[in-house]
Amino acid sequence: MFEKEIRRKSEELLETKTVDMVIGYTSGSLPFQARPVLISSPEDTEQLVWNHFSSPNLARYLLPYRDSSKKIALLAKGCDARAVMVLIQEKQFPRERVHIIGLPCPGMISKTKLEKELGEIKEEDFSFEKDTFLWQGKKWEIFPFLEDTCSRCRYPNPPLYDELIGEKRELWGSSSTDYLEKINGQSEEERWQFWEEELSRCIRCYACRNACPLCYCKECFAESDLPRWVSGVPTLSDNLFFHLGRSMHLAGRCVECGACERACPEEIKIGLLPLKVEMIIKDNFSFEAGLSLEEDAPLLTYRETDPGEFIK
Ligand code: SF4
Ligand code: SF4
Ligand code: SF4
Repeated sequence: MFEKEIRRKSEELLETKTVDMVIGYTSGSLPFQARPVLISSPEDTEQLVWNHFSSPNLARYLLPYRDSSKKIALLAKGCDARAVMVLIQEKQFPRERVHIIGLPCPGMISKTKLEKELGEIKEEDFSFEKDTFLWQGKKWEIFPFLEDTCSRCRYPNPPLYDELIGEKRELWGSSSTDYLEKINGQSEEERWQFWEEELSRCIRCYACRNACPLCYCKECFAESDLPRWVSGVPTLSDNLFFHLGRSMHLAGRCVECGACERACPEEIKIGLLPLKVEMIIKDNFSFEAGLSLEEDAPLLTYRETDPGEFIK
């Protein structure tokens, strides 16, 4: 999937010193996994891979360099590019120091879903195509095996890039748009029970926050000592406080990449909270994060005509 082109472009950018570093993906230490890699030498670009498992949001890896002078090339799927756009808008990373290699996204496959459906699997038995894969002599559609976030993705094509490798892709024909129905259709009691069950399993490891490209505060409110908002003990009430607080901090900023949910060792559907907030923002302000450098986020602006009913 365009790996050769990605390697060639990265090599060229490093050789011509257009950038100091390329942030991309390389093979993970476990099967069905690609992990982020930082490459500074043209010879190392051979390590770059691009496949259905290149799921981490690489915008997250720009953050350690926000105070440096390095110019960085970043491989960016739709959701990575949206996150970069938010970082630029929020003045966390200057546009002139990031070179975006846009990659129309083929959708990321969930290893857990593969294992649930197919049992014990080995990577070498698979051959992946664009929207299908071959396994045991049979052709399978990848859609049922996509990460939840990817099956509902509305922006697989990067909205911002310096160059694009690959062809822009269409949305999934059967793209699921009812992912919030489960919580929207619930009564308050059912919703409470759902979140009580989910958040009782939370061990407050903060992996969800740490994977999020837009949770970049140098000191998170959850770990502040003065004032102390939440205890270090993962009780249900403190877990709820942390996750609701985090979702509010992301209001109008979440790019629906699902990195938080994928990072959770407890398989908590934690991405639903910021997503629900995004849908409220979308319905009330017709705004979605990371689609335009010109349009300010609703919570960073105030207009007398802003709808206010929903917060009364
Ligand atoms: S959310 Fe969209 S752009 Fe991001 S990995 Fe999934 S399909 Fe790709
Ligand atoms: S990653 Fe999961 S367990 Fe860890 S804090 Fe987030 S929701 Fe809780
Ligand atoms: S809250 Fe989750 S889905 Fe939203 S930007 Fe952060 S990691 Fe991505």
